Amino acid sequence: MKTVWRNTIITWLAGLAACIVIGLVIGQLLGVLLLYVLGSLYWQLYQLYQFHNWLRHSGRAAPPEASGIWGEVFDAVYRLHKKQRKSKRRMRQALTRIESSTTALKEGVIMADNQGNLEWWNNSAAHFLGLMRPVDRGQVITNIVRSPEFFRYFSQKRFGEPLVIKSPAKDGVYLEIQTTLYDKNDHLIFVRDVTRLHLLEQMRKDFVANASHELKTPLTVIKGYLETLDMFKDSLPKSMQKGIVNMSEQSERMEQLIEDLLLLSRLESNDKREENQWHKVSDLVKTITNATTPILTDKHTLVLDIPVEARLYGSYKELYSAFSNLIFNAIKYSPDGGEIAIKWESSEFNGVFSVKDSGLGIEPRYIPRLTERFFRVDKGRGSKTGGTGLGLAIVKHVLLHHDAKLQIRSQPGFGSTFSCHFPANRTRNDTIPAIAFNTDDTPPTDQ
Ligand code: ADP
Repeated sequence: MKTVWRNTIITWLAGLAACIVIGLVIGQLLGVLLLYVLGSLYWQLYQLYQFHNWLRHSGRAAPPEASGIWGEVFDAVYRLHKKQRKSKRRMRQALTRIESSTTALKEGVIMADNQGNLEWWNNSAAHFLGLMRPVDRGQVITNIVRSPEFFRYFSQKRFGEPLVIKSPAKDGVYLEIQTTLYDKNDHLIFVRDVTRLHLLEQMRKDFVANASHELKTPLTVIKGYLETLDMFKDSLPKSMQKGIVNMSEQSERMEQLIEDLLLLSRLESNDKREENQWHKVSDLVKTITNATTPILTDKHTLVLDIPVEARLYGSYKELYSAFSNLIFNAIKYSPDGGEIAIKWESSEFNGVFSVKDSGLGIEPRYIPRLTERFFRVDKGRGSKTGGTGLGLAIVKHVLLHHDAKLQIRSQPGFGSTFSCHFPANRTRNDTIPAIAFNTDDTPPTDQ
């Protein structure tokens, strides 16, 4: 490039020198110089015209013949054009391949803008959800997938967990919906047929519920006989007395286990759910703490900090189970003399119920697993504390029903804080008596 520039300048200067010589010879220096400058200008303009003309006609054909710097410019632009066309072709091919592979996917893929207006979907998504091209393009997805769960999931952007719904287009088909936000909060939605998994899961739930229910009757009979034996315990040999005490303790544990399993099944099944209502948090917690008296035996101090006006919208029984599990755990896993702080705090964003103990604490690696069924940090401790290993699984399910989240903070040796974060629309701070409630999960809006 440098050489071309040098040659161009040298040629132009040589021309200028020649003009000066000719001008001096014929005695018309100014006239000859003016002619030379005008000639040069005309030449440049002509090349520019050629260049513009070639570009206007898409620049696909070979560039016009030109020498010097203009020839270089033409060639460089032509090469750039060729390169661009090539990468455009490659991109178009890649796009076609992506489109045809997503079309062939068994999973449904949907692209919707940040308002949920449908932009693109593959054949599987059309099949699962009954989407039709082109009529449904631009429609809001919640107008097409008409399910209350899906509406809540989509409008409240609960994309952390996948949602399972019945297919609106195919009878007996269950779909798992997973949504990711991308770019300017646009929606990328994956739809998967999970009918087989759903039926298996249903079978598992039914089995646990039925087995637990069936175990209740024989256990009641065993407990009845044990109670009778307990009355005549003193007349029996020492070794048998110990056996009876042991059997009574274990049957109590088994009864608690069955109760917890049945409660979990009810929470999972979603039907037969108690209707939601506004409850005074302080009353609910007082009922629980009164029930703790037999296990407290003055060894622990409970410190309550719950404003009387705090109210929470939900199912009384479920909230009772969740809060009591947290409070009983705090007592169970705190050494004698420990203090347990039970608190309710609310802001314009949420309401937080927390139980803080100064007990054993939990190692960070165990925290993510605490809400798994039958998970215990110390396997041996379960039988001593009388726990079933289901308490925190129950808490998790109850909170899920109340759009709430469980937060666990703990430090081994220093204690733990379990907090339940409820959304603002489920909490209020006033003395208005509990008012009418709807049948779905949404709290009345007149507070
Ligand atoms: P469990 O019936 O065994 O108490 P949970 O599901 O309620 O079952 O709790 C699971 C495990 O989490 C417990 O076995 C215990 O190891 C641990 N855990 C729960 N709460 C606390 C707490 N407040 N302090 C220390 N560990 C706890």
